Amino acid sequence: MKNILLVLTLAFVHQAQAVVDATGMVTGCFYASDAANDGCYNVNEPYGCSCTKPEVLGSAALCVEKYKDQLATNDNSDAQLQEAWSNVLHMICFDSDHVDAGNYQAVLKQAQEEQWPMDVTEQLAEEASLAAVAFWKNQHTSKMFAWGIMIYFAALVAVSAFVRAVFFVNSRLGRALVYSPYLNKPRGYVSMPPTIGSKRAIPWNIGPFTLGSVLQRGQTIILLGYLVLIIVSYTTAYPLNSDNMRLPTNSAQWTKYLGDRAGIIAVMHLPLVVLFSGRNNILSWATSWSFDFLNVLHRWTARGMWVSAVIHAGVFTHLNRENYPDYQKMPFFMYALSAVSILSAVLFFSMYSLRHAFYEFFSYTHFVLVLVFLVMVHQHVKELRFTNWVYVAVGFWAFDRLMRVLRILWAGVWLTGKFTIDNGAVKVTLRSNRPLNLKPGSYVFLHVPRAGLFQSHPFSVCEAKPNNTFTLVIKPMKGMTNRLEQYVRRRGELFQDLRVWIDGTYGHTAPVEDYDNVLVIAGGVGVTGLYGYLETLKLFTSPTGELVQSSQRRKNVQFIWAVHSHKNITWANIEPLLNHGIEVQIYVTNVAENSNINEKQALARATGIPEDIIHYSGRPDLDSTISSWVQAPGSAAILTCGPPAMNDACRNIVARNLRTCKNTISYYEESFAW
Ligand SMILES: Cc1cc2nc3c(=O)[nH]c(=O)nc-3n(C[C@H](O)[C@H](O)[C@H](O)COP(=O)(O)OP(=O)(O)OC[C@H]3O[C@@H](n4cnc5c(N)ncnc54)[C@H](O)[C@@H]3O)c2cc1C
Repeated sequence: MKNILLVLTLAFVHQAQAVVDATGMVTGCFYASDAANDGCYNVNEPYGCSCTKPEVLGSAALCVEKYKDQLATNDNSDAQLQEAWSNVLHMICFDSDHVDAGNYQAVLKQAQEEQWPMDVTEQLAEEASLAAVAFWKNQHTSKMFAWGIMIYFAALVAVSAFVRAVFFVNSRLGRALVYSPYLNKPRGYVSMPPTIGSKRAIPWNIGPFTLGSVLQRGQTIILLGYLVLIIVSYTTAYPLNSDNMRLPTNSAQWTKYLGDRAGIIAVMHLPLVVLFSGRNNILSWATSWSFDFLNVLHRWTARGMWVSAVIHAGVFTHLNRENYPDYQKMPFFMYALSAVSILSAVLFFSMYSLRHAFYEFFSYTHFVLVLVFLVMVHQHVKELRFTNWVYVAVGFWAFDRLMRVLRILWAGVWLTGKFTIDNGAVKVTLRSNRPLNLKPGSYVFLHVPRAGLFQSHPFSVCEAKPNNTFTLVIKPMKGMTNRLEQYVRRRGELFQDLRVWIDGTYGHTAPVEDYDNVLVIAGGVGVTGLYGYLETLKLFTSPTGELVQSSQRRKNVQFIWAVHSHKNITWANIEPLLNHGIEVQIYVTNVAENSNINEKQALARATGIPEDIIHYSGRPDLDSTISSWVQAPGSAAILTCGPPAMNDACRNIVARNLRTCKNTISYYEESFAW
């Protein structure tokens, strides 16, 4: 293959006629305009050519032809010759993706046989080849480093997929593997707690500015591994060589190779970044990683890509500073500049504070800007043989979108939902045309075109019935959910004809039935994320014993629900839980709500909830409750879904207990944000 390419290239070299640009800038590099050379943009670049398409190897011919003329008529300077040879070899060898002595020897032989008008010595050709070899070596090493980063994440996926497979085959074995009491200490100290301080879900602020939330330590460790790989990629294995005739000094070589490496690492990040962002995510299916964690990986790899792109752009701007006016006119450069600027804008608008304050703006700009960014990157790299990485990224993106459409079609196009206002929330009852495989922990994305044409928002499935009917409880926020509430209110509190699409289901299920003791802690509308588990656990807690599955031991289950207002207790159907022996404690935390005793009693009667399980004395004592459940004999699962402060409190209490506890303890946290 290599030889065929070589022969083809030489044919080019000898057949092409010189078409010398009118400006006459000649430094030994290919001098070619974009239009005339089918994508060969390079103008007079002192650090090497970007002219890379096999079809435009005719540029090499231009170069040689030009030198033929020059050498025949003018001075025969070594410097020009050297550069000419260096460039010819560079181009000829491009296609092979590999350079060895054979390449230049063959060209040299050809030159001698055909008596090219060049005074090429073997030493000169060898030196030129050395430079070309170094260039390709750096390209190769850079790709290896980028692959290394991918392999790192693939290894994490493989380990998680293995654990998931074990859980799938035998969940008790899986639990023994992951939640073994021997691992309690490391989990309590190393993986579970927030990286610093006690806030994991609660964001950190500096004055009025919200910085974002910190990760849990386990996630930080994973990201540190990624950071180490990035640092190693940028600091090691540069093919520096004092005999490099194209780049005579170490600093010139290092700078150029750094720029190349950064560009390669940036573009090879694309599939990773896109893969981590998809709703329909093969990684999530294989590993049961939460969408929250995948988003963490998406954000951090996007930052890694941005840093690489900025280094790449910075280095090449620096290298071309002397002919910058010409350089910046080239489409090649314009695409690069646009791509880096757009990527910077995407990252800026994705900042925690902006994302949370203007979610819709973030969502729309993210979509549009990322599409434009991909087009710009494609245009920039299309001459450099890196377009495959763009296509793979687009493939992941398209797969996700296609799956969304298929899921919507499966559930049924234009479902009609029953929407009611229920004490500060919108309760939605839907019936899908086909079964959605709803399980505890499932959530769906709801499109309500009346409230937001191009938007879909995630909501946990609260109650699911066997006839494909399920309910969502939506707490209005500022955007689409607010418009939805206003719309339902305007149309009357009971509005039946709102057409919607359902994209789902998503989410993973915690194997709560494997534990002796299960403590379920919900805050406000977080009950929707956990209610499905309580329905499952009913099967193991019937006071009469009739419904307890024969193969399972009876479980102790307690459900603690903190609500702002006593009216919120209508959001979930508590009575069936009580009938099945689940211990329920409800805490109404807004003291101002405690005034109207008659109303409270009436509501409790209407919902079938005994008054003595509703507490009006403030928040539940999570510390003592969780500690007593964790220390109780047998295995325990703690599930929580609530506001950030509640989730953080539960996480910290469980982590602290794990450090001393000898039982099998699992902690499952659902969060309504990412
Ligand atoms: C897995 C999951 C399950 C959820 N289940 C429920 C539920 O059962 N009931 C419920 O009331 N809420 C639930 N939420 C939260 C709900 O999705 C958001 O409150 C809702 O999307 C806010 O819409 P908005 O346009 O009114 O938001 P805005 O008022 O614009 O923003 C309010 C907050 O919601 C966040 N947000 C907005 N849109 C989204 C989105 N598409 N995805 C993630 N976060 C978003 C914003 O960052 C912001 O912090 C869940 C969230 C997740 C991630």
